[in-house]
Parts: sequence; C-alpha cells; structure tokens
Amino acid sequence: MTGYTSTNDEKESALQREYMRQAADYTERLGKKLGRKPRYCVVTFGCQMNARDSEKLSGILERIGYLPAAREEDADLVVYNTCTVRDNANQRVYGRLGYLKSLKSKKPHMKIALCGCMMQEQNVIDRIRESYRFVDLVFGTHNLYKFAQLLVSMFESGGMIVDIWQETDRIVEDLPVSRKYPYKSGVNIMFGCNNFCSYCIVPYVRGRERSRDPDEILREIEALAADGVVEVMLLGQNVNSYGRNLKHPLSFARLLRRVEQIDGVRRIRFMTSHPKDLSEELIDVMKDSSKICRHLHLPLQAGSDRILRAMNRRYTREQYLALTDRIKTAMPDISLTTDLIVGFPGETAEDVAQTIDMVQRVEYDNAYTFLYSKRTGTPAAAMPDTVPAETVRENFDRLLKVVQDTARKRAARMQGQVMEALVEEVNEQDGSLMTGRLSNNMLVHFPADSGLIGRFVDVSLDVCHGFYYTGHIVS
Ligand code: SF4
Repeated sequence: MTGYTSTNDEKESALQREYMRQAADYTERLGKKLGRKPRYCVVTFGCQMNARDSEKLSGILERIGYLPAAREEDADLVVYNTCTVRDNANQRVYGRLGYLKSLKSKKPHMKIALCGCMMQEQNVIDRIRESYRFVDLVFGTHNLYKFAQLLVSMFESGGMIVDIWQETDRIVEDLPVSRKYPYKSGVNIMFGCNNFCSYCIVPYVRGRERSRDPDEILREIEALAADGVVEVMLLGQNVNSYGRNLKHPLSFARLLRRVEQIDGVRRIRFMTSHPKDLSEELIDVMKDSSKICRHLHLPLQAGSDRILRAMNRRYTREQYLALTDRIKTAMPDISLTTDLIVGFPGETAEDVAQTIDMVQRVEYDNAYTFLYSKRTGTPAAAMPDTVPAETVRENFDRLLKVVQDTARKRAARMQGQVMEALVEEVNEQDGSLMTGRLSNNMLVHFPADSGLIGRFVDVSLDVCHGFYYTGHIVS
C-alpha cells in the first residue's frame, strides 16, 4: 500500500526558518517605530488540536521577535484560530471581528490574521472579503506551517492576503512551539478524518486522515520529556485508526507501548477515540500500563440506533454497551466521559429516552452535551424534520439533569481516597490553593505552594463537590 508522506518535510522546515529570519527584520523595524517590542495575541476557539496549533503560531511569532499580550487591546498583531464545528463559534468570531475593527481604527499599524477550520469554508471567505476588508491575512488548516512565509507576504503587501488550500499530503512539524504549560503538552499524531459522520464538518475542513511517522512522534516526545514535560496528550480526530495509512502500518496500541517507554513521561492521555475503531489490543495496553491515564473519552453522540444510523456513526447501542462493559471489566477504576448531541434532525422523544438510558447504563463520569448545530455542506444539513427549538431545549435540559446526577454519584465514590495529582496551577478563585489533576481527569483543589506546579503529589480527596474535590496533601 502506498502511504501518505507522513515524515517531516525537512526542506520545507528549512525554508520556513528562512522566512522567519526575513519576518524578524520586519518585526525589528516595527519595534523601532513603536519604541518597544511588538506584541501578539493568539485567540483559540475550539478543540485541543486548535490549542496545539495556536502554540505553533505563538512559537513562530516569538521566534520572529513578538512578545505575548494577554488581550487583543494590547496587541499589534491579533490571530484568531477559529473552529467551525458549531455555528455559534462562527458567530462569535464575526462579533469579535467587529470589535477588532474599532481597535484597528485607533491603531492603524495593527494587523489581524484569521486561520483554522472556519477559514476552510468558501462562504466564510466570501463574507470576509466582502464585509471585513480590514483583515490582513487569512489562511487555513493545511498551510499553517507556512505561517512565517505568509507573515512576510502580509508585511510586504498593502492588501488582504488570502491563502486557503483544499488539502495537503505534507506534515511539517519541526517548527518553533511556545508551550502554554511547561509540564504538559499535546502531540499531534494524526490529522484529518475519514469517517464522515453526517453532522460533522471536520472531514471537509481538515481533510483526509494522515498519520505521522511514529519515530518522529517519539522523537518529539523524547525532546518534550527532556524539557520537563511529564504528561503528554496524543491528539487526533480519531486516534484509534492511527497508523493505518502509514507505509508500514502500526496500530495506535503499539504506538502507545513505545511512548510508554520514554523516560520522564509519567502520564499519557489521548483523544479523540471513535468507538467503532477501539481495539481489544488498546484495552489490553491500557490495562497493563501504569502511565496511560485512567480516563477514556468515548463519544456516543446518540443513544438510539435509528439516530446513530442517520449520523453514520457505524456502531449500535448494543455494540457500544458491550465495548464499555469490556473496558470497565478490564479497568474497574476507569472514568468514562462522552459527547452527546440533542436535536439531530428527526429526533423523537423515544430517541432522547434512549440516550438518557445509555447515560444511566454506562454511568459516565461526565458528558459534554451539545445542541445539534446545522453545518452547511454536511449530509445532515439537508435532512428534513428539524426538531423545534423549544423541544430541543426541553430535551437538552432533561438529559443534562441525568448527566449531572450520574456524574455526581460517580465522583462521590472516590471521596476519602488518596490519589496522585499533577499540580497544574494556582486556583483561580483562591490563591492559597493549588489545582491538581487526577489520572481520571478530575480536579482537586488543596492548600499548597506554587513551587509544586508541575510536580506529582498524593492528595486526600476529602470532600466531593460534584465535579471536583477539595483535599489536602498527604506526605
Ligand atoms: S469521527 Fe465523525 S465526529 Fe469525529 S471528526 Fe470524524 S467525522 Fe467528525
């Protein structure tokens, strides 16, 4: 089988580093004009993969001489890294662009760049060209690695630069990255998706599935570990089908076994898993591992076979239940979380009852419930029988109550136990507390010194507050 070009494109990396040098000259000139270093602000909408992409954008901007700014108001260059999975995210971007226009009118040297999934949609590009002429640079998901080159074009041009590709077979990863957390990091293992769930726009905006070469993934993780990273999150739209399109196919489970062997990495997470591709081999690897976290996010989306079929999810409720039973038997301490959509076209009260029934049977530790959002260009957008908004709202509230009750019960079972937490940050509400994350992804807040950030501590989970705990460190 002929695989995609999955290894890093060294020539392209070198070219982009050259563009970074050129872009740095422009930044230096701008800095002289301003009498200070220019500042940037990257705003991320959407998923973990976008968050990782934003770290790359930030890395390039810092390499060419920009300093980070916390708010758009303080920035000379604003980048919106957009998401298009739900329509309200698109509306938020348009709303915030109006605000950026007013900022730019007071600060004419300000540059505005837009990228991410939303930019892969032609109707979005048309609207930006027509109504948002003050935007300086627009690019998509496939050419993000050319950011330095695009910046040079933007600095040289007086008008709007728009560069959107429909696809790419290239993977260019060897570029600067500015990590948000020193102790944990996302690592892309694959891009795109082949599944075409009928409601989802991702395969159209992120393209077909491409897996990265395993040796390059391992090298990146080794370098992260050497730099103090103790937790990695392996990222892909469907990690369970990792490696199938490589020249030398390698399963996701076998990749995990190799990641486990890297010294310094103490925790491994991954997302997202498609239930239809989750293998017995993966369950075995997870069960035997002391590093792979006891948390599995397994999107169900809907509980009725009729809706699952219409969604093109390619599993039945019985198959899903059998899978979660096997997972729970192998790892009784695992936390299962999921995504649920309410209001898919044609959804009836009986369908919603079946989704609620699944929540009660699987006993999720948490579920992210979403209102169905129609995305133009997907098969579901053309389906009849739109559910009235009021019915969707009522169903959503009913489902949410069951999700919350189940999650509370699940969390209560661990009250009083001592568990290992990775200290992540100072508590947002109370500066005397630290926030730590447990292997099962739940948070615990406890008195401690900020010097412990990035370290592992044993914490007694004294009080369960539904979705988090308060506790104390056990020496
Ligand atoms: S698996 Fe389905 S929902 Fe997930 S990204 Fe692919 S098409 Fe979208």
